[in-house]
Amino acid sequence: MPSNTKRVQFVVKSSKFCNLRCRYCYEYSELGNRAAIAPEQLDKMYSHIASYYSQLDHPTEIEFVWHGGEPLLQSPDYYWQTFDRQQEIFGELASSVTNIVQTNLTVLNKERIQLLRDGFDGVGVSVDLFGGLRTNQAGMDSQTTVLKNMDRLRDENIPYGCITVLTKLNLPYIQKIYKFFEKMNLSFRLLPLFNGAFDGQHKGFEINANEVLSAFCTLVDLWMEGDRLVVVQPIMDHIQQILHYYSPDSEPFYYDKKEWESIYLVNVTGDVYSYADAYNIEFSHGNLFKDSMEEIVLGSAHQKVIKAAEERIASTCTFCPYFGSCSGYPVAEEGILHNQVDDKGNMLCIKERGLLQHIEMRLKQAGIIDSATGKLNIKHRIPSKSIPALDCPL
Ligand code: SF4
Repeated sequence: MPSNTKRVQFVVKSSKFCNLRCRYCYEYSELGNRAAIAPEQLDKMYSHIASYYSQLDHPTEIEFVWHGGEPLLQSPDYYWQTFDRQQEIFGELASSVTNIVQTNLTVLNKERIQLLRDGFDGVGVSVDLFGGLRTNQAGMDSQTTVLKNMDRLRDENIPYGCITVLTKLNLPYIQKIYKFFEKMNLSFRLLPLFNGAFDGQHKGFEINANEVLSAFCTLVDLWMEGDRLVVVQPIMDHIQQILHYYSPDSEPFYYDKKEWESIYLVNVTGDVYSYADAYNIEFSHGNLFKDSMEEIVLGSAHQKVIKAAEERIASTCTFCPYFGSCSGYPVAEEGILHNQVDDKGNMLCIKERGLLQHIEMRLKQAGIIDSATGKLNIKHRIPSKSIPALDCPL
């Protein structure tokens, strides 16, 4: 892969329809809606994306992340056909296109197993392990089914990673959660509870930023003590940031939304959003079923959200010692969703900055960072492979 390759991710809501009613779901009010993006609309979207990225002066890896609702409730043919259409529409670019699915893994049969194995390039499974919030319409916990289906994927040699949503209810079980994934030799992302679909939705399991931070710090300690290498996010990324911080020759890097937008969310309607402003129609950049990607990227709505993200970074990150090793992305895109905002509307950075401080302290205690000289004692290799489903909760 050429060194100037960039990556863009389109999180596509194929349909909001879902067989579960997870109590924290951001899409809760729409989970009964069977409407799905039509194949012709997907074609339009691909054409707009292909013609924009093919004329840039650098290669681009284009990743589609299929979300719902439950994306696997669509017939497998829906995806096989769209994969064929991608080949046709992207042409020479097709080898740079990948497809990943984020599933609740409650509906699995022979056809879907084949789709996961031979169609998608990556599979993310949502499983919380404790808390009982991932329920069906009758209020029954879906977990037994999911665990059984995870075993099935394993038996079929289908690689996958997991996303576990952190709430007040599974917070006391962080060690058990970590040990589960360690024993299963699975990568996972611990994703803090994000804003819900309506006021009061999270009553009884809400979690504050300091509690999230304490869970992350526990994960760091477990990771450092562990015998087996578990790829756990966001811990790995933050360890890399601290190693970067203590590597004097490394170039600083900053999240530059104007120069490159790395994640777009595409709603079932075709409306496009930044991660930070999901479903706020005022901030929609345009509609990928109708508008060209160029119009979307250069349009006034996109410019407005770029400015807002830049202001968040300027007010919160400028004086952070880690800025340049941390790009500022958490403040630019995630802080609003994770409710890290004070009473006056100022963006806070409790989780990320606190986590970096904790890792720095632990690496000093372990002698990996020499406290006296500020130099790294060992060249550590941190696995770069991230879990496929990344961090979009929507
Ligand atoms: S740790 Fe937080 S405040 Fe510091 S640069 Fe990163 S996002 Fe900005």
